[in-house]
Amino acid sequence: MTEPLVVAIDGPAGSGKSTVARAVAERLGLEVLDTGSMYRAVTSLALREGVDPRDADKVTILATAVDLRVGVRVLADGVDLTKTLRSEAVNELVSVVASVPGVRRELVERQRAWVAEHGGGVVEGRDIGSVVFPNAAVKVFLTASDAERARRRGDEAPESVARRDLLDGGREVSPLVAASDAHVLDTTDRAVGDVVEEILSWL
Ligand code: C5P
Repeated sequence: MTEPLVVAIDGPAGSGKSTVARAVAERLGLEVLDTGSMYRAVTSLALREGVDPRDADKVTILATAVDLRVGVRVLADGVDLTKTLRSEAVNELVSVVASVPGVRRELVERQRAWVAEHGGGVVEGRDIGSVVFPNAAVKVFLTASDAERARRRGDEAPESVARRDLLDGGREVSPLVAASDAHVLDTTDRAVGDVVEEILSWL
């Protein structure tokens, strides 16, 4: 059986992952999985249900039990959390929740199941090429200058972005890192179409 086509797109906040992932997916006729929205959904759900996001056991139970639907909208146990995912409260706590090994184990399993169900996809996150899909057809690690990343994050304060990057890069389990066989691509001052062409040339 041939493996489903997976394009792994990793990088820090504001490196251009979502925009590039969408454009690559469109060109390849694949769907996109935004794995950050899954960590955000578990964080938002914890806040909503009064579960302490710093309590590793409780958030692991929450991540394991939740019926999570990710797409244009993100639903947890039937509740549409889309509007809450980029709130300040979630920005502040998502990297803490994402550092919990049990949460990662559960969400990684769901990410693999999503790809199996969809017959492949463009998957964006922090550990996609390094951990989730080590056999991805192409691994891309996007970067951009600090100023450009801050600009792209829009509403999120630069301090908040920097804090997330620090936590994501420093955590013990699956830290943000370029896989040894990833193509590292600086997107500062580059047009999306240009970046997409370069990625497609690696397929
Ligand atoms: O991609 P986005 O900025 O929405 O991700 C939000 C947070 O989710 C990241 O800062 C990181 O803590 C976590 N994340 C992760 N692993 C992924 C995707 C996101 O730890 N694959």
